Amino acid sequence: MAPILPTPLSILSEVFGYEHFRGPQADIIDHLVGGGDALVLMPTGGGKSLCYQIPAIARQQAGHGIAIVVSPLIALMHDQVGALHEAGVEAAFLNSTLSGEEAANVEKRLLRGEITLLYAAPERITTPRFLAQMQSLYERGQLSLIAIDEAHCVSQWGHDFRPEYRALSMLHERFPGVPRVALTATADGLTREDMVQHLQLQEARQFVSSFDRPNIRYTIVEKKDATLQLLRFIEREHTSEAGIVYCQSRKRVEEIAQILSREGISALPYHAGLDSDVRQRHQDRFLREDGIVMVATIAFGMGIDKPDVRFVAHLDLPKNIEGYYQETGRGGRDGLAADAWMSYGLQDVVNQRRMIDESPAGEEFKQVLRGKLDALLALAEATDCRRVRLLEYFGEHATPCGNCDNCLQPPQIWDGTDAARKLLSTIYRVEQQSGITFGAGHIMDVLRGKTTEKVTQFRHERVSTFGIGAEYSEAQLRGVLRQLIATGALAVDAQAYNTLKLTDGSRAVLKGERSVELRESISAPAGGGRRRSSGGKDGKTVPAVAASLTAEAQQRFAALKAWRGEVAREHNLPAYVIFHDATLAAIAALAPKSLDDLQGVSGIGAKKLEAYGDEVLRVVNG
Ligand code: ADP
Ligand code: ZN
Repeated sequence: MAPILPTPLSILSEVFGYEHFRGPQADIIDHLVGGGDALVLMPTGGGKSLCYQIPAIARQQAGHGIAIVVSPLIALMHDQVGALHEAGVEAAFLNSTLSGEEAANVEKRLLRGEITLLYAAPERITTPRFLAQMQSLYERGQLSLIAIDEAHCVSQWGHDFRPEYRALSMLHERFPGVPRVALTATADGLTREDMVQHLQLQEARQFVSSFDRPNIRYTIVEKKDATLQLLRFIEREHTSEAGIVYCQSRKRVEEIAQILSREGISALPYHAGLDSDVRQRHQDRFLREDGIVMVATIAFGMGIDKPDVRFVAHLDLPKNIEGYYQETGRGGRDGLAADAWMSYGLQDVVNQRRMIDESPAGEEFKQVLRGKLDALLALAEATDCRRVRLLEYFGEHATPCGNCDNCLQPPQIWDGTDAARKLLSTIYRVEQQSGITFGAGHIMDVLRGKTTEKVTQFRHERVSTFGIGAEYSEAQLRGVLRQLIATGALAVDAQAYNTLKLTDGSRAVLKGERSVELRESISAPAGGGRRRSSGGKDGKTVPAVAASLTAEAQQRFAALKAWRGEVAREHNLPAYVIFHDATLAAIAALAPKSLDDLQGVSGIGAKKLEAYGDEVLRVVNG
């Protein structure tokens, strides 16, 4: 009688300790187990790894041999393989960090069929030596699956183009019949076409997931004192939690990392100007230690699959929505609540516009950049659901989410049309009178009727709009100016000391044909006090890890975390590879007395139960 083979669902629960598949995982896995090819587009944190790991396990048990995983990130292969070992899966990697002897050893195990998944860098896979080894497996029917991770690297449209990926099309020609899966979190059409063409996936079934990340809460605050706002945000919502703070320049990265450290937050800088071993050390600490805040330029982040990043903060405006979404997507990969927080102000708009104007690119390309910036500015200025706007940008339709700043605290809207017209006519009049353009500060002074030195010098108290906007605060006027610039109804002249000048778009506002709606500026940062849990739109709650635990359970949780830290150090692996925070929180809440109690906790598979069950009971009951 043929042995009964495990189903994908039984592998999910036995090996990985999870109850249910997420989204399209089950369909993708069935398709691959059945021998089909697939192209998988899933957002960061969607759970792509299991989509090839479970088919690899299932197909090996059915006698089909070994799966090869192409991965571009050598630095992370070690942790991925470590995580599989912890779950009791035979995995190995081949890359330039191994000594000759170690590599030879892996190759021996490969040919003997002792490995379920082999991770390798693309340049390794396409060497004649490795191809010959794959050929030998293939001829014996022992090549079970080829998975190509971060498949967008094959496209020159993406920012991660890796020429070695182009050579991977040969795998299809050499090993027909072996199921192949290409996976990526990059969604745009051009990249998708490139993947199909260059990886020869014309016949592959495409699995496109929604790009929504419901556990991420989007908040965009008006920039006042950005550093102070950031500090308050971290202190109120994310004490001792891991996060990433993105800044625009290296100098600002250094500065902010210092300020945060001075305030007792474990913050580290990361940017391309640091020595590569310093960068590596900071990245390792971020991955391995609990609660590190990485202050970084966008040089940081690609391939970082730390699941428990609880917030991603942008201190400066990113360039476009694609960048913003990719960066914020690094938060909350474990599915628990995470924050995407950004501070945004007039200066950001001015800077980004100027960077485009001054770039050496051709006019056509600049037009594309401006269009992308405009879409991001519209998101920042939006008074309705941020998620609806974001998903719309990616071609998805959604309803208000209940988990963004605008949904949670609908902003007070005030009609800024009158203020906008007064500002624009002041700009017009002072230029008419003096023959030169002026900056935002001066324009606001004139409108509010302040007799500053400059006003007297230029005799602007004689301008007919002088003092007619005295009822507006500077903050309100700043908001109006920001929106006028964001929507193109006003321009900043970088060639003339960032002074303001009217545009074609000004006329509609001046003539009262276009109204200007603004959010009432809120002086306190959004959200008071520490958040316990957040309501999703279906009344589902996403618990902030451990926040809902009783005092005793909190103690157990702390003890478990300390124990996990020791194990992780011993095994030279990040703590989350041993157990996720969510798993520890569940154990702490349950207060198990026996191994039976422990079984069934999400994240505890058979191997981990066997390896750690007794110790966990001792820590909990000790
Ligand atoms: P991606 O590569 O798509 O960004 P990962 O494969 O790293 O995502 O998965 C993100 C996290 O979600 C991981 O910590 C993983 O263990 C977890 N995960 C994936 N699938 C499931 C599932 N079905 N049930 C519970 N957790 C899951
Ligand atoms: Zn919303």
